[in-house]
Amino acid sequence: MTPQPPPLAPTAPVGLTPANLTVPKEASRFVIVLILSILVWLALAVTMIGLFYAVIFGFFLWLGNGLLTAYLRAEAVRVGPEQLPELDASLRDVCQKLGVRDVPALYVLQSGGLLNAFATRFAGRDFVVVYSDFLEALGPASPEMRFILGHELGHIQSRHILKQIFLAPGLFFPLIGPAYRRAWETSCDRFGAYAAQDVNAAVRAMLVLSGGREHGPQLNAAAFASQHASERGFFVSLHELTSTYPTLSRRVTELMALTDDRAIRSPGRNPFAYFFALFLPGGNVGQGGPLASLLLIVVIIGLLAAMAIPAFEKVRQRSQAIACVNNQRQLAAALDQYQLEEGKGADAWSDVTGAGKFVPAMPVCPAGGTYNATYEDKGARVICTVAGHDPTSVAAARGARSGGK
Ligand SMILES: [Zn+2]
Repeated sequence: MTPQPPPLAPTAPVGLTPANLTVPKEASRFVIVLILSILVWLALAVTMIGLFYAVIFGFFLWLGNGLLTAYLRAEAVRVGPEQLPELDASLRDVCQKLGVRDVPALYVLQSGGLLNAFATRFAGRDFVVVYSDFLEALGPASPEMRFILGHELGHIQSRHILKQIFLAPGLFFPLIGPAYRRAWETSCDRFGAYAAQDVNAAVRAMLVLSGGREHGPQLNAAAFASQHASERGFFVSLHELTSTYPTLSRRVTELMALTDDRAIRSPGRNPFAYFFALFLPGGNVGQGGPLASLLLIVVIIGLLAAMAIPAFEKVRQRSQAIACVNNQRQLAAALDQYQLEEGKGADAWSDVTGAGKFVPAMPVCPAGGTYNATYEDKGARVICTVAGHDPTSVAAARGARSGGK
């Protein structure tokens, strides 16, 4: 039914093997995103309120995904041997090529002209969805369709949907989050090209995505790919850095390079774009992604601050209290000494503080209080207007006085 292109066809991706479909940068970026995610998850777990938000967020994610898959199961067309059998055969062919044993559920969804496909997962089941216009544009048994199905199976094989949930905190970080997701797509394009065993068909499928179903297949692939090298500058760089997909012109460039297994030379990016991209967190421009992720970053920073500020404030108050208590002890001792020497209590602080007196200079309360004193039976008692009167300080002061004198 689906004629398999000869394995040594001129357009076969000569360098691709099942072992090298995932690009190395996906693995290296995974490590960074994993570390960032663990740190954020730990911070969320430490602050109970953070965990509370994570649970709420997770609940709505689960609810949304449940409704999406319910919509697919009830409204979209489930592909099988009795329904769109050619497409079903393409899926089985691709699964066999990629070594996928559990064939995912494939659905065709009417999409009002949109050309797209995606993979998702719910309750332990994998779903692949192809939009109806994309199916019409590519055909059910074409190598182009096998490329698209192979790309989506790549997401399933690489467990990208699970990673999207557990690495969500890391994926929201600017620069690294989008860069990691771009690596996903580059890897999955290789899965697709390997599954189709036809680089030209993969390129044609990308050209349909770029130029539409009508003229896409006839577009000049080399001319489109050259836009990746020729259209540079600050805004293209910023678009690339904040996008979760490699640009279509780059994807075509990368796919074309698979025909003779050569590495493409990435054209440089404007360095200022990296700086600006720092303030545009991960997410797709135009899908509300940046705003949602910006909000999440604000929440994360708020939680970290909520953890750090009380701890800092505690240390500050403690050091202030210690300094104030020392002042109180010093003043109380001076008042007692004055009473001992003069036979009467002091009338003002100036009696005991100042050059040549018991305390050379009036101590200043670090919390901004002022000191008042009263004479009691057991001796002078100094009270701070802010910190109040610490009974332990007086006891300690008394101990020091009776021991010292
Ligand atoms: Zn993808």
